Amino acid sequence: MTTLLYMHASSFAHDTGPGHPESIARIRAITAMLEREERKGALVGVERREPPRATREQLERVHTPRYVDAILGAEPDAGYVRLDPDTVMSPGSAEAGLRAAGAPVAAVDALIGGEARNAFCALRPPGHHAEAERAMGFCLFNSVAIGARQALDVHGIESVSIFDFDVHHGNGTQHAFEREPRVQYLSTHQWPLYPGTGARHETGVGNIVNRPLPAGTGSREWREVVENDILSAIDSFAPKLIMISAGFDAHRADPLAMLELEEDDFGWVTARLVELARKHAGGRVVSVLEGGYDLNALANSVLVHLNALRGV
Ligand SMILES: [Zn+2]
Repeated sequence: MTTLLYMHASSFAHDTGPGHPESIARIRAITAMLEREERKGALVGVERREPPRATREQLERVHTPRYVDAILGAEPDAGYVRLDPDTVMSPGSAEAGLRAAGAPVAAVDALIGGEARNAFCALRPPGHHAEAERAMGFCLFNSVAIGARQALDVHGIESVSIFDFDVHHGNGTQHAFEREPRVQYLSTHQWPLYPGTGARHETGVGNIVNRPLPAGTGSREWREVVENDILSAIDSFAPKLIMISAGFDAHRADPLAMLELEEDDFGWVTARLVELARKHAGGRVVSVLEGGYDLNALANSVLVHLNALRGV
């Protein structure tokens, strides 16, 4: 069965300005890696697709109509508009945000329609910090949450687990689902660190699992926490769809944080999630790119992640 790879040219147009870590260079690095691998014939079983734009209806399952209007209306004709100290829009940003949010929706539709086994959405901007009514942390629309809502509200999927291994806590995703018992949100993240949410005692309606980790946490300790607290919780929840907020900024080379993971850790956890999806969810995994700011570490981690998704 196929692994779908969603990408779109609009990711190259969303310009966050000089010196910004969430830059176009991230997608360039991923694209260069993919081209190199494809030349080697090494991505057998991967099918590339272009996502449609998320529709208003899809966006409004997570964001308020007022917020959607504000974001679509904020795009400048030239130069930059700053929505918060970190979050910037340029010409082309609205389109990039709509495609990034459209990708997990399309992936959910495709997997539930039996067209492929799993999917990775490699677009930017990221999404997990975006709140119902607030852009923050480089994020405009909460793509993973919009994808999960598509599974629940359109396809009647009764349970979705979202594991967010980005080094930052996905405040937007947690808030979107903290009163939604059909969604389980689990996160490992460095703490204290931006955005400041994700304490262990934030448990929603029993559906939120936060495991804040101190700076310097390495592979062995992280895998122990993932094995004992995250994977076991997903196994008990027995979701019909597994989603991943795949941020690769917990890599030891990342300039924005101080967890000490290696590429192999991302391969390991992806393979374990694929296994759990086979057990409970008909194999369905939709992974969505979030952070990852060291360009080499990002490209190498994406490759390991994609290989684990296609079962290599
Ligand atoms: Zn992050």
